[in-house]
Amino acid sequence: MTLLRRPGGVRTAVLVAGGGPAGLAAAAELCLHGVGCVVIEPRVEVSHRRPRAKTTSIRTMEHLRRWGVASQLRRAAPLPVAWSQRVTFCESLSGRRITDFDGAFGLTSRRADDFAEPGQQVPQPVVEEVLRAHLRGRPGTDLRFGHAVTALTEDSDGVTLLIRDDHGAEYEVRARYVLGCDGVSGVIRDQIGARYLGRSDPRPNFNVVFSAPGLDTHLGPAVQYWVVGAPVSGLIGRLNLTGTWWASFPGIDADVGSARVSDLICGLIGAAAEHEVLATDPWTARMLVADTFASQRVFLVGEAAHVNPPWGGHGFNTSVGDAVNIAWKVAAVEHGWAPPELLASYEAERRSVVEQTVASAESNMRALAGDLPADARVIQQVKRFEFYSLGLVLGYSYAGSPVIQPGPALTTVTDSTTYTPTAEPGARLPHAWLPGGGSLYDQLGRGFTLLGPAGRGSRLVAGARERGIPLACVPPPPGYPWGKDYLLVRPDQHIAWRTRDPDGIDLDVVTGRSGVPDPRPSG
Ligand SMILES: Cc1cc2nc3c(=O)[nH]c(=O)nc-3n(C[C@H](O)[C@H](O)[C@H](O)COP(=O)(O)OP(=O)(O)OC[C@H]3O[C@@H](n4cnc5c(N)ncnc54)[C@H](O)[C@@H]3O)c2cc1C
Repeated sequence: MTLLRRPGGVRTAVLVAGGGPAGLAAAAELCLHGVGCVVIEPRVEVSHRRPRAKTTSIRTMEHLRRWGVASQLRRAAPLPVAWSQRVTFCESLSGRRITDFDGAFGLTSRRADDFAEPGQQVPQPVVEEVLRAHLRGRPGTDLRFGHAVTALTEDSDGVTLLIRDDHGAEYEVRARYVLGCDGVSGVIRDQIGARYLGRSDPRPNFNVVFSAPGLDTHLGPAVQYWVVGAPVSGLIGRLNLTGTWWASFPGIDADVGSARVSDLICGLIGAAAEHEVLATDPWTARMLVADTFASQRVFLVGEAAHVNPPWGGHGFNTSVGDAVNIAWKVAAVEHGWAPPELLASYEAERRSVVEQTVASAESNMRALAGDLPADARVIQQVKRFEFYSLGLVLGYSYAGSPVIQPGPALTTVTDSTTYTPTAEPGARLPHAWLPGGGSLYDQLGRGFTLLGPAGRGSRLVAGARERGIPLACVPPPPGYPWGKDYLLVRPDQHIAWRTRDPDGIDLDVVTGRSGVPDPRPSG
């Protein structure tokens, strides 16, 4: 328990500013590693009427599995994976089918060797509720809903934050580290003098959530229906199987959207249909990356650091990836087995992943529903990158990071659609199922894991023990293609080192003790 109440304020190891997906993921990762935090989040309740993200990627589901909440999320998700794994393009919900993309967004009901969890379509508020429930009551995790960060000052020992509570009163929190997960409109980015670089798409977008219990379609189940080549174009889909739907209209601004909302909905349906509009949400696609992700003790995580268009469903998932990366490192520093220098590798590792994601989402945005002809061949050619992106979701690498075995520098993912397992240092550990049916990932330790044949590595084990580095030794699964190698796997399941001689692994490098260059521009 790291929290100490005292007159004049609250003390904590980590303050998480913002309890959206990034903040809750960061808190879950800290909690997994036994590090306490205070989460400050202005929203008391989540809003189901503004669902935003619906795509939870394979990689995010694997993180949820590590935290022990993957099955809770599946149970809470209103659309089971088995119900549909399809995106359908059509002339309207009651019109002609043009083409389908099956197995979109990593959705599959079959057990695939390459991953421990399939993707899941689930509204973002449901994910947030599941994570809130998971964190509630965890020792050391203090969730403060209805509170907001208003300012911070940083010194060499820690950060003092000013918090406004739900009655408007202000109090102080002193934290050793701050994770700025407060999104686009938060305060942390400004407070550390960082700023977004990039641009917004000039076209407006208009989202609607509506109730239509009697609505169905002859097209059969699909997680998204794209209506193209028709007078009204856009996307429509079910939020649940009890009659709540969402629709998204690219190119429609708030005035036109509000004035014509029912015509627009019926346009996508292709017929008059009884419905009740529950909420509208105008939004703009943005391609923004902060010029720096960190000051000394404050780290920008998720949309506080970068924003991408939603096409392809990456924003929320990239935010969770950031949160995992910084939170295990902060936990390692808090436990004393890594020096604070390890934290500088956060930006070194995440910046290129983020930049690739923004570029991919921007490229998906080049052909929106209104730009596409009702031509199956063209649609298949142009849109496949949006629905099949496992190369990006699973294939990103931290190669070239200062805390990964020295080797070639970071490379961009060459094929964003296809994932090819690799055990190169920096890559996500190739997944495998075990003979008993379990996942290799479930065998890994919470700290580092040496995956390799028994009998070698005693010097490495002794070195880890001496430095207090948690290190589990796990044999490779039978038939594992890299079974003769020793793979040092980090807490985030990325490979830190690959070798035939485990005693040659340099623990100082992988924990940042050899030094990590400051990724921030000098001067
Ligand atoms: C229409 C739409 C569709 C989308 N679809 C997808 C999708 O399918 N898949 C996907 O991956 N992504 C999608 N996204 C993007 C996704 O919603 C975001 O990437 C995600 O919410 C980012 O999470 P975050 O926690 O970084 O930021 P946020 O969700 O914005 O959370 C930030 C939190 O900080 C809190 N906060 C603000 N100010 C303060 C303060 N002063 N102090 C403390 N807390 C504060 C806010 O209340 C909020 O809860 C979509 C976005 C839009 C707009």
